[in-house]
Amino acid sequence: MPNLDRNLNDIRQRIAAACAVVGRDPNSVTLVAVSKTVSVETVQEAVKLGVTDFGENRVAELVHKKTLVPQVRWHMIGRLQTNKVKDVVGKACLIHSLDRWNLAESLHKRAEMLGETVPVLLQVNIAGEEQKAGLPSDEVLPFLQSMDQLPQVKIMGLMTMAPISDEAEASRPIFRELAQLRERLQQHEIPNISLQYLSMGMSQDFEVAIQEGANLVRIGSSIFDNR
Ligand SMILES: *Cc1c(COP(=O)(O)O)cnc(C)c1O
Repeated sequence: MPNLDRNLNDIRQRIAAACAVVGRDPNSVTLVAVSKTVSVETVQEAVKLGVTDFGENRVAELVHKKTLVPQVRWHMIGRLQTNKVKDVVGKACLIHSLDRWNLAESLHKRAEMLGETVPVLLQVNIAGEEQKAGLPSDEVLPFLQSMDQLPQVKIMGLMTMAPISDEAEASRPIFRELAQLRERLQQHEIPNISLQYLSMGMSQDFEVAIQEGANLVRIGSSIFDNR
């Protein structure tokens, strides 16, 4: 068993320290504990230690854990297949991984059928890595401007993943670009979308992400791995 208490204290202190570097309020950052590799028992342990938000990258796993641990928020952070949309709408508090138009259409149709709206983040492939999901930066503005066709889908912000690296600093330019993209988009005042959330930073680079403006950090291994 990982020492969750110690790991969470460590992460919370590091979040606070990263906020202090740039004069941010630590409460402006939400820790999304990525529980994709761990048991329901471990999730329940984390809930007892005050974790309120969990992230999963598979719909079936999210739905299963939400059924057993309904009192917290469940974020869908992984690539979402269109045929899983029917299961995830109404279950995930936020889908971080909207990356293509046909997925937005499916989300809209499902949400409309349920009489709900579905909160999402647009995933952006800042680094332009071919194997990575996410919309290319230059397609984001027209995509957002078209979202008025799909009113049940509520854009709440942007998400990105930096290329894998051992060096947290290597992620900084990527995170800075996402924050700058958000600023440019905000000047367009696109109706019916919000850009309040920036979901960026994982175990490897969350401090850098916070310094660059992240308000959702998705942290898995530093919390749940044995160390
Ligand atoms: C697994 C995962 C994370 C967490 O990564 P760690 O390195 O374990 O902190 C964050 N975001 C996404 C999309 C993931 O799939």
